[in-house]
Amino acid sequence: MPRPISAAIDLTALAHNLATIRSLVPQSKIWSIVKANAYGHGLARVLPGLRKTDGFGVLDLDAAIKLRELGWAGPILLLEGFFHATDLEGIDRYSLTTIIHSDEQLQMLEATRLTKPVNIQLKMNTGMNRLGYRPEVYPAAWQRARACPNIGQITLMTHFSDADNGRGVEYQMGEFERGAKELTGPRCLANSAAVLWHARTHANWVRPGILLYGASPSGVAAALANHSFLPAMTLTSEIVAVQTLAPGDTVGYGSSYKAEKPMRIGVVACGYADGYPRAAPSGTPIMVDHIKTQLVGRVSMDMITVDLTALPMAGIGSKVQLWGAELSVDEVAQACGTVGYELLCALAPRVSVCVV
Ligand SMILES: *Cc1c(COP(=O)(O)O)cnc(C)c1O
Repeated sequence: MPRPISAAIDLTALAHNLATIRSLVPQSKIWSIVKANAYGHGLARVLPGLRKTDGFGVLDLDAAIKLRELGWAGPILLLEGFFHATDLEGIDRYSLTTIIHSDEQLQMLEATRLTKPVNIQLKMNTGMNRLGYRPEVYPAAWQRARACPNIGQITLMTHFSDADNGRGVEYQMGEFERGAKELTGPRCLANSAAVLWHARTHANWVRPGILLYGASPSGVAAALANHSFLPAMTLTSEIVAVQTLAPGDTVGYGSSYKAEKPMRIGVVACGYADGYPRAAPSGTPIMVDHIKTQLVGRVSMDMITVDLTALPMAGIGSKVQLWGAELSVDEVAQACGTVGYELLCALAPRVSVCVV
């Protein structure tokens, strides 16, 4: 028998989440964002659940080619564009849409020979200050792209830094309108947070990622309470050993947890080498036999330890859920000072995955 830890990817949840997003943006087309191996769920695995999307957004050429090889013939968007001029041959051959965020990329497109014009999304830097042209130089970049015979349709795009928090999108929308006001072409602005909370950003295309997987764009589980999104990944394992502690006994490396009273401790086959965050402190929620209990002591490479004192029926073989259908990944992430995105993306290759 293999080690009992495994992740289940729920295709029904993915399809349901995509349909839920569609109901929120009935006027927009959807790029389903599947970078980082579909946020840890597996690109090939999620494809059947997301077939009704209008396009897929990926980070690099390899992922785009993989989607083509899996049979996806629809639009594919390279979210950061291309990294080297040699990527242009693949963009041409596989009919990809690419972000253009710099003069260097434009220059490479001007200098190459393609078999057909490539559709681009021209990125405006409206305040994130990572990629893109500032509003004042954006029209000139657009004119230059328009004049390039290798470029077909130009979509106007930007990316929000604060759509999930109190700062919102006002400032960036103002910047976007300033840079785009004289330009024609489709618009593509919204990430998951903007899909949920800023209807004015929806435009022609949206780019949701985390919502497809049923986790919260703000990292706060309660933020999704009014919606019907379903977790697409459930990570489960089992109790493989039980210890009885006397007051004063400690658990695990560094003896970071000390029993104040008699306790029963369960050892779970899951550690940081499976992708469970080592930063998870004592008190992090975890489900044992469908009952919420908590982590105690430090997370080690292959094991974690949990409090079974209030679960007298639990023992070796008891089912453990690290996150998923019964326990939001955001709740676990919050206890660790991070967001569900990071936990999902970190699922380790050694964890066996099944599609349900
Ligand atoms: C990752 C990414 C998204 C999706 O973000 P979510 O918060 O997961 O919805 C959208 N647009 C771009 C450019 C991205 O890099």
